[in-house]
Amino acid sequence: MNPLLNADLHCHSTVSDGTLTPEALAARAKANGVELWALTDHDEVGGQQRALEAARAQGMKYLTGTEISVTFAGQTVHIVGLGFDHHNTSLTEGLRRTRGGRGERAQEMSEGLAKVGIHGAYDGALKYVGNPELISRTHFARFLVEAGVCKDTPEVFRKYLTEGKPGFVPHRWARLQDAVQWITDAGGMAIIAHPARYSFTPNEEYALFTEFKAHGGRGVEVVTGSHSSQEALRYAETAIEFGLAASRGSDFHSPDESHTDLGALPFLPGQLTPVWEVLADRIQ
Ligand code: AMP
Ligand code: MN
Ligand code: MN
Ligand code: MN
Repeated sequence: MNPLLNADLHCHSTVSDGTLTPEALAARAKANGVELWALTDHDEVGGQQRALEAARAQGMKYLTGTEISVTFAGQTVHIVGLGFDHHNTSLTEGLRRTRGGRGERAQEMSEGLAKVGIHGAYDGALKYVGNPELISRTHFARFLVEAGVCKDTPEVFRKYLTEGKPGFVPHRWARLQDAVQWITDAGGMAIIAHPARYSFTPNEEYALFTEFKAHGGRGVEVVTGSHSSQEALRYAETAIEFGLAASRGSDFHSPDESHTDLGALPFLPGQLTPVWEVLADRIQ
């Protein structure tokens, strides 16, 4: 298949921390010229049936998707899964366990914020939550903007929700090998999301890619809304070095917050193998 396909294989709906429904995302993707779409809610496949039907109604091709939170070498890494059977119980059970700690973590985040004089953050964040099992830092960020504590969500993350800040609670997510296995057991492909967004040493990053491959991982996001053009070039080289297929996705969350709209991305560099070529028989 065509490397110049307008594929957008990474975005979020109200089923995780996006602000649009799967149907509204499908309509927006179509209007922006997306030809192949995947909804990749965090740790959740609850929106897949709706997304598939909405894509069909829009006349867009669809790959099932999710973005799994993983802890690797002390950092959170995101693994995108594409083209799996979203009814597979190894996958749905693994995701359910991964979501499991979010409620308690959110309570602790709220306690941390209360200590610096920001009260009622748990209830405030809940007002933005579309899926009670998926309260995330993004929902806290929206509440802190609403409360006038910060001017936008990046400022909230910088001042309150990242390591060492009052609302940050260290959390252990899924293991890399488990996330890769859940996806591959369900017939899909595991992909390292936005690799430039981690702060690994070169040795740790090499270990991430090596272990990911050894566990059966097969792709890496090269063109994403969170990569600069230099970062895309760098990870195009990494894809070739590790023999990984390349993915493309906006990571769109909200018309008000996201810099990169659905489908509004550079094309994949031509020398790479697109993930949609490997997943051709999983496209619906
Ligand atoms: P969580 O899974 O609860 O840790 O939340 C992670 C989500 O927070 C990511 O998927 C992004 O949507 C959002 N996020 C993380 N870092 C930032 C940042 N620096 N600025 C804005 N949003 C961020
Ligand atoms: Mn998110
Ligand atoms: Mn991510
Ligand atoms: Mn994402």
